[in-house]
Amino acid sequence: MARKRDPQRSVLAAIDLRTLTTTTSDALLRLHGDEYNEIRRAAITARRAGEARFACGRCGHSVYAPREPRTRLPYWQHYRGAPPSCPWWTGNSSTVDAVNAVKFDGVQEGPLHERVKHVVGELLELDELTTAGSVLVDKYVNADGERRRPDVRAAYAGRPIAFEVQLATTQLPVIVAREQFYAREGRHLIWITWDFAADDERPMLTAFEDVYYSHNKNLFSLDDESVRVSRETNIFTMRCFWKTAGLWTSKLVTLRDLHWREEGLPFAIQPEPTWQERWIGEWLGATKPTGTAWETRRRGLGQLAERFDCTADWLEEIYLDDFINLMMSLREGRPIASRQNNLFEITNTFLASDRRLHFSDLLSLAVSRSKFPTLLDRPSVAKKLAAASAYPQLGAGDNVRRICASLFPEFLG
Ligand SMILES: [Zn+2]
Repeated sequence: MARKRDPQRSVLAAIDLRTLTTTTSDALLRLHGDEYNEIRRAAITARRAGEARFACGRCGHSVYAPREPRTRLPYWQHYRGAPPSCPWWTGNSSTVDAVNAVKFDGVQEGPLHERVKHVVGELLELDELTTAGSVLVDKYVNADGERRRPDVRAAYAGRPIAFEVQLATTQLPVIVAREQFYAREGRHLIWITWDFAADDERPMLTAFEDVYYSHNKNLFSLDDESVRVSRETNIFTMRCFWKTAGLWTSKLVTLRDLHWREEGLPFAIQPEPTWQERWIGEWLGATKPTGTAWETRRRGLGQLAERFDCTADWLEEIYLDDFINLMMSLREGRPIASRQNNLFEITNTFLASDRRLHFSDLLSLAVSRSKFPTLLDRPSVAKKLAAASAYPQLGAGDNVRRICASLFPEFLG
């Protein structure tokens, strides 16, 4: 039955699971008739044997290459049961597969997933820093009464590690559950995908965004080249993607290049600090118990004014610098830019002057979201905050509110 296909929602590339080479839908169109027929046959022959030969470049579900009935042009098509969360899903799901997906812990393991974990196992075996006999692919483990099946486990350079294959469709609850499981087990987890499609024009798929942040803004992927290099050098090599100035960049890294953190997943490339992190670093560097050095304060406020379309004079007039120092104190858990003894004293002092009361709403919000919400219950603070409601507050669309939300997203974002 001819069905109209949206070009944005069709399988744009498939991976040959035997050779791990990729054929895009454009390349498929350009193939000589003999070559196309070979692919078409190979897909169908594998299917008849209950196997998969080609997998979707996004979700890893098996695909085949029929001709479009109307135009007679070949295209990649998911076999039935592809996960609807595949960005190239075209609407052929079956309820049976949806039920199976639930059984599998919410993860549907397509043939690409299966292939990649065995490649990971093979490459780990080649690396001399892997403890002999430690590589386990797909074996159940029990820990804390939970039964899990990690994709790949090994001991590497004396460390227990695990790999989980992350294709485009793994969902956040699964990601979080896996990360917590390995953290409890004291095992370093690495999420790895196949042939990550870095795209500067479109936002990253949520599934990748989640593991990207877990890995300190790195994303690890295997591809033809990294597999070849691993086999040539006998050192586990993968491609690390990260962003510089908002654009993707990548290079090959080995497991030896990773920084294994106490908390959080390992990473290879230290991400660039954001402008906020740089700005706060400079400000803190120039701040002592006597206050923030005049020159840095003026320069800092000037930068904020430029970024948020106002003037440094105005920011100074409304005492934004005092509020910033109070927020930094809240973040650090001790007074910054003050000789006073504790957060209670500096909060009280901040509210003691009428000239700063337009910050009282923001202050209450920030304190309530900080590690010290009980500061608001202290009678002298509560009394001053109640009196401050008579003063006009900074509005929601106000530049100053936007500045504060940007510098202190955990309190005011
Ligand atoms: Zn797919």
